[in-house]
Amino acid sequence: MSVSGVCQVCESAEATHTCPNCGAMVCDEHYDRELSICVQCAAAARQTDGETSEIDQSDVMR
Ligand SMILES: [Zn+2]
Ligand SMILES: [Zn+2]
Repeated sequence: MSVSGVCQVCESAEATHTCPNCGAMVCDEHYDRELSICVQCAAAARQTDGETSEIDQSDVMR
């Protein structure tokens, strides 16, 4: 409990970023600087391609 937070993806590295999309704490390696979200959200975002934002609560990211 000494560490403030570990990456929720690899659960080993120290979390250096918090995903603004899902709120997960991730390490530098699992943070997508391009999209400024975690890699999990980045993967999802790239899949959906952000076509129609009909998905409620999907949060508009600008
Ligand atoms: Zn990680
Ligand atoms: Zn995320």
